[in-house]
Amino acid sequence: MEDDVQWELARVDQRASKDILPTKDNLCRRLVLDSSICEACGDAIETSGHVFWVCVVAHEVWDLSGICFDTVGDRVHEFQQFQDSLWHLKFGQQVDKELLGLVCIVAWCLWSTRNEVRLGKVRPQASTIFQKARYLLNEFQTTNLKLAKLVHDENVQWQPLMDLWFKVNVDGATFAQSQTMEIGVLVCDFVGKVEAKLSKCLPLPLGPLENEAKAMEEGI
Ligand SMILES: [Zn+2]
Repeated sequence: MEDDVQWELARVDQRASKDILPTKDNLCRRLVLDSSICEACGDAIETSGHVFWVCVVAHEVWDLSGICFDTVGDRVHEFQQFQDSLWHLKFGQQVDKELLGLVCIVAWCLWSTRNEVRLGKVRPQASTIFQKARYLLNEFQTTNLKLAKLVHDENVQWQPLMDLWFKVNVDGATFAQSQTMEIGVLVCDFVGKVEAKLSKCLPLPLGPLENEAKAMEEGI
């Protein structure tokens, strides 16, 4: 999943969970809009619960999802706000992570579609919205699987140096007032004997990360 999409998804979930999404209901409360009626159905006040669960558009997408809400609790549609539904699913019904993930992503797709339509785009079919949600969920799971495998495979742990290898320790410090940096290097052999040492002052006002990189370059 692209980083910006993933970030946006987390942001929508967080804002939904705090009920600070700019739904028409919330915008009316803040006197930004005069009407809080949902534009998709023209039938009810647009709360987050309405956008994500009750609206006819949401119903069509959830029907396509195949998620049987009767088995996870039919009270899920009764909640006025999305965060209450999530709490009910997670703690009341104890649904698994994957289902909860799909629910959040479908909700995000419903919200982003709602925003695009408000900006003048044509409302897509429910099947298109759901396909996008499935695609994003698959991509998210694949990415996380790769990351989890990578972390597992690294199996990082301390090991003694192999014979005839050298270990280079470096460190650097920046001095803002004099706009300089100082670096120190210590080279030890495979039995721990110091073979070389170096300290150096450079007229470079580098940041902490660049400082470490420069020290490593000098050390090598
Ligand atoms: Zn509606």
